[in-house]
Amino acid sequence: MKYNENIAACIAEVAEVAGYLWQKGWAERNGGNISYNITPFVDDMLAGCGLLYGPVALPRPFENLSENYFLVTGTGRRMRYVASSPMDNMSIIRILDGGRAYGIVAEKAIVPTSELPSHLSVHSYLAGRGDGYMAVIHTHPIELVAMTHHREFLEKDVLSRLLWSMIPETRAFCPKGVGIVPYRLPGSLALADATIACLDQYDVVLWEKHGALAVGENVVEAFDMIDTLSKSAQIYISGCAMGFIPEGMSDAQMQELKQAFNL
Ligand SMILES: [Zn+2]
Repeated sequence: MKYNENIAACIAEVAEVAGYLWQKGWAERNGGNISYNITPFVDDMLAGCGLLYGPVALPRPFENLSENYFLVTGTGRRMRYVASSPMDNMSIIRILDGGRAYGIVAEKAIVPTSELPSHLSVHSYLAGRGDGYMAVIHTHPIELVAMTHHREFLEKDVLSRLLWSMIPETRAFCPKGVGIVPYRLPGSLALADATIACLDQYDVVLWEKHGALAVGENVVEAFDMIDTLSKSAQIYISGCAMGFIPEGMSDAQMQELKQAFNL
């Protein structure tokens, strides 16, 4: 199918990031999922596409997403294959029936991730916020997930403080830090709701003993934030592996950074 320049760029961006998730070891088997709100780029060609699949009822209505379009990775699909053959492993869906259902409009009838209700819940929240955030990524970054197995790190902002203090860039590029969502059943609306509550304050949240979810204006931005936090986690763990707890930057050094970069 011949997509316009903007949609083709969104597809290429999802493929690029899917490749990174696989290379990083964060996307075992079919782990993780990506969705991208491409509504601003929909043209007559896409709007004229009939349904290849559906309508499928959604577990809750998403009124403010009615007639929105999303690129969504497919259920059971592997990120490494999203990278190499994107439109064989994801599809474009349209939200129908006033937000109560979805249908696949392109390019093949690749059924979306089982996490679709969570992704749409987050997109609905982001659309309500209206600040141009269009991308949602969920993945399994090894070191960050490992850190959520330590009770002390689950206290509010303990992990943000620790990760910021490992390297100045993390404070600069993830100024909101990282939120913690207590364990909830994967794919559940309870997990989606707890995530949304956390996104009021953070762009990246860690799901206890499961993974990370990041939102951003685009897929690369969302990926970069998880990647930056992951780098800090690796530095911390490297110190521990060498037999010491890394000292971390001091509060004064972090305050200086905050002022210098207007964070
Ligand atoms: Zn997961």
